[in-house]
Amino acid sequence: MVRKIVFLGPPGAGKGTQAVRLAHELGAPHIATGDLLRSEVQNKTELGMKAKSYMDRGELVPDELVVAMIRGRLENASGFVLDGFPRNLKQAQLLSGVTRVERAVHFALSREEIVKRLSARRICTQCGQVYNLLARPPKHDEICDACHTRLVQRSDDRPEVIENRVEVYTREIKPVLEFYQNQGALREVDARGSVEDVYRAVKRAVS
Ligand SMILES: [Zn+2]
Repeated sequence: MVRKIVFLGPPGAGKGTQAVRLAHELGAPHIATGDLLRSEVQNKTELGMKAKSYMDRGELVPDELVVAMIRGRLENASGFVLDGFPRNLKQAQLLSGVTRVERAVHFALSREEIVKRLSARRICTQCGQVYNLLARPPKHDEICDACHTRLVQRSDDRPEVIENRVEVYTREIKPVLEFYQNQGALREVDARGSVEDVYRAVKRAVS
């Protein structure tokens, strides 16, 4: 099995669950850039404080800064599962200056399927639990299993916002897929199946 892996795919494709499981099996770190960013900010590291200054101004954290955080995590790691990064060509190019990605696994979903899945996502504002009315419904109608709070839809999961997110995602990921395709590192996984089916496909993709 290869050990230096990136997972690419739209929001709602189930990458996170698969990444955690594969990283565990490989004994390699699972790196999700959102978590990484939050922990650097929380621990008030130099990079975290820099990132926070952008976030406080309502600006996007620059790609260079995110890649610098990733670099810190990849040092001394003999493998990794990088979850949902890179998202655009510039990030892919910056990342190639840090490490050589052996396999890029693309979780493929049609546009209609992405919209359907994101529309079904609900969160608990009390405890942070995430549900999906299609894939991972709560036991009782739109009520949190853990704390019995009524679930809500995140503002960026509303239909009009989803359409825009999907469009931006599709436009930006295309050159990333080509980038890894040209290196012979790209493998496609059909993300429509059950968690077990998709995991089997992921294992084939990294073998
Ligand atoms: Zn809850």
